[in-house]
Amino acid sequence: MCSFPDTSLAILQEITHKLTEERKVRLFVKREDLIHPQISGNKWHKLKYNLLEARRQGKHTLLTFGGAFSNHLYAVAAAGKLFDFHTIGIVRGEEHLPLNSTLAFARACGMQLHYMDRATYRNKQADYVLCSLREKFGDFYLLPEGGTNEWAVKGCADMIADLSIDFDWVCCPCGTGGTLAGLASALLPHQHALGIAVLKATDFLEKQVSNLLKDHKRKTHWEITHDYHFGGYAKKSLSLDNFIQHFMQRYQIPLEPVYTGKMMYAVFDLLEKGFFPTGSVIVAIHTGGVR
Ligand SMILES: *Cc1c(COP(=O)(O)O)cnc(C)c1O
Repeated sequence: MCSFPDTSLAILQEITHKLTEERKVRLFVKREDLIHPQISGNKWHKLKYNLLEARRQGKHTLLTFGGAFSNHLYAVAAAGKLFDFHTIGIVRGEEHLPLNSTLAFARACGMQLHYMDRATYRNKQADYVLCSLREKFGDFYLLPEGGTNEWAVKGCADMIADLSIDFDWVCCPCGTGGTLAGLASALLPHQHALGIAVLKATDFLEKQVSNLLKDHKRKTHWEITHDYHFGGYAKKSLSLDNFIQHFMQRYQIPLEPVYTGKMMYAVFDLLEKGFFPTGSVIVAIHTGGVR
């Protein structure tokens, strides 16, 4: 808890399998899950420039939003404690006691929890809602749900800026699309980013990613597959659970069913279907979330 995230721990781990041999591709997992036990993976990269910006603006309080199981709330609470910010978490829905492990951890880090009914939560970015939050809590630095904003995009670009190998494809799970936008912003002309939607989304993810990239001058290749959400956010199946278990046994890499499990499942299925051209070098970003 007392140490800063160490991004040099995000090693590249090569995955060999009969499919990678058959397809003549190389597959690597970038272990962003290892950079910190609590502020892991993409959540750290999404937060880091926001923390600097909050400090630059002289803010002492971070306010953000999330569901009761939100990895983002968890990471913000931990970061607040580590970097000396007061934190306020606005939780969707009503309070359930005892607190689940995510919220209990957030509270233990000093996060002030406040519950918001679902109808208001849907409008959480509206002026009247933010205004009443400022009346209630005073001045704060606002982090959107999932932490996705322009600083998050800049931070996520760093996850591939420091790679020691040239790659053709980079893959990540997509919740709000902030991580994919960051990766896409940092691609070279021959590289592609593939997002795996972990929730049922019509085209809002594509819109969100395009919007986050609108000020980036260079167009890059990115796409989102909607074939691996397993019925929706946090929905899973026996085959997904089995896959995660086998992956752990064979490669000693822990995955969870909400994000990284769906992504790796998709990568293997797409390998089998011949989606990645022969000779491709693929990097799958382990975005963390295992605890
Ligand atoms: C939040 C989260 C994501 C989703 O990232 P977005 O930028 O919202 O698309 C992916 N993986 C893990 C482990 C997460 O916690």
